[in-house]
Amino acid sequence: AVLIQPMTEVPINGKDMSNFAELVQSTRETFYSGKTRPLEFRIKQLQALKQMLEENRHEFHAALNADLRRSKFENYVLEIDYTINEIIHLLRHLKEWAAPEKPTRTFVNALDEIVIYKEPYGVTLIMGAWNYPLQLAIAPMIGAIAGGNCVILKPSEVSVATAKLINELIPKYLDNECYKVVCGGTNETTELLKQRFDYIFFTGSTTVGRIVREASNKFLTPVTLELGGKSPVYIDNTADLTVTVKRVLWGKFINVGQTCIAPDYILCTPEVQNAFVKEAKKIMKEWYGENPQESQDLCRIVSDKHYQRLTAFLSNGEVAIGGQVDPADKYISPTILINVRPSEPVMKEEIFGPILPIVSVSNAYEAIKFINEREKPLALYIFSTTLEDVNLILQNTSSGNVVVNDTLLHMTVDTLPFGGVGLSGIGAYHGKLSFDTFVHPKGCLIKNFNIIGETLASARYPPYSEKKLKV
Ligand code: NAD
Repeated sequence: AVLIQPMTEVPINGKDMSNFAELVQSTRETFYSGKTRPLEFRIKQLQALKQMLEENRHEFHAALNADLRRSKFENYVLEIDYTINEIIHLLRHLKEWAAPEKPTRTFVNALDEIVIYKEPYGVTLIMGAWNYPLQLAIAPMIGAIAGGNCVILKPSEVSVATAKLINELIPKYLDNECYKVVCGGTNETTELLKQRFDYIFFTGSTTVGRIVREASNKFLTPVTLELGGKSPVYIDNTADLTVTVKRVLWGKFINVGQTCIAPDYILCTPEVQNAFVKEAKKIMKEWYGENPQESQDLCRIVSDKHYQRLTAFLSNGEVAIGGQVDPADKYISPTILINVRPSEPVMKEEIFGPILPIVSVSNAYEAIKFINEREKPLALYIFSTTLEDVNLILQNTSSGNVVVNDTLLHMTVDTLPFGGVGLSGIGAYHGKLSFDTFVHPKGCLIKNFNIIGETLASARYPPYSEKKLKV
């Protein structure tokens, strides 16, 4: 089986990869035919993508539930409706964003035209991650379509049901020559990355991000890398603790911590730690009941591999809440670890699961030092009402994004760039940036043969002289 649309099955680790070169080549020919250039075409495709999501809400929920045992509420809010809203926002502004820009002319260019054209790159490769398998595949694709590019989409093979559905529905709704889905795992991705693309948009781990960057170097292909990392939470004793606990736990346990911007660990004083744990016990009982395993609102760990990786962290500190596991159900209860030493494995790698360690620091200065001694995080969360301390942390740390007194919600603000810095990523998207990411701003100077202009500019021609330098 060749891994090219249309397909009826998702071939995971299929063998025949000989057609990737042909796939990219035929897509490039389509791009050069100019099919994706007219705005009307792009708008029609975006509308069709929106229709695909709207008409298949239930099917997408079922697939996401099969992959992650995720609730209808989270599936609709975080994936289906979220992605529909991204399309609506882009459709509302596309004409304005795609229009050539006319920057202000200086005296020197008074007789010229200066224009910035928003040129599509060509054939783009988009690779998604499994933790939000619909949103992370489709949201970048929206930007690529809006920009006038062709797309080869590779959904994550780990979230099989969602990959299968995307693979089945995209050809039914979108133009088959311009937008293609390729399914598969590491082998297919490795082969795919040998091809020449005009833009690569990757969401996944820092480890694979490096592989993508290396592959892209061969053709100097521009990349966006939306990666991961350990996103810290700093809480001081001026924060409203009841609200803080709810906002941190919500951000952590949504999708059972399998969120790239989930709060990874907490930095606070031992006093704040004790108060946090006391309040968290109450809130978690309210949210998930006496036995969280019976709650319909908690997802499961995506795979046995991740389950094994996560359960090893449970001995890395004192279990203050949770700690229950069930391998048959890939279940780990929402867990808080206290008095965790920074040298423990749980503090060395991205957790990506329902385990929340708390590390003691005495003040904002110590928190800054702790954060700066590690890789730059994707997100940083500060809970405090002391403006000086908030500013101190903001100005002395680096992270992809910051939220003060909440978690995750920056991703819903479509006027904010969403992305990492350092090992947490390269580039950003959402809203207008999703469009900007997928277009090359081509600066054009358009001159004429006007005699006045030619006379004024003739000093540039040889023979040069001291006198001409003063003109
Ligand atoms: P991953 O890096 O393991 O996999 C991502 C993709 O890379 C998959 O499609 C897979 O097929 C491919 N891949 C895996 N190994 C490969 C290899 N050796 N060579 C070539 N391709 C390979 O990531 P994941 O497990 O799907 O997702 C989890 C990670 O993604 C976490 O680190 C998380 O923080 C990050 N993430 C980031 C964002 C963001 O927006 N910044 C969003 C979601 C997830």
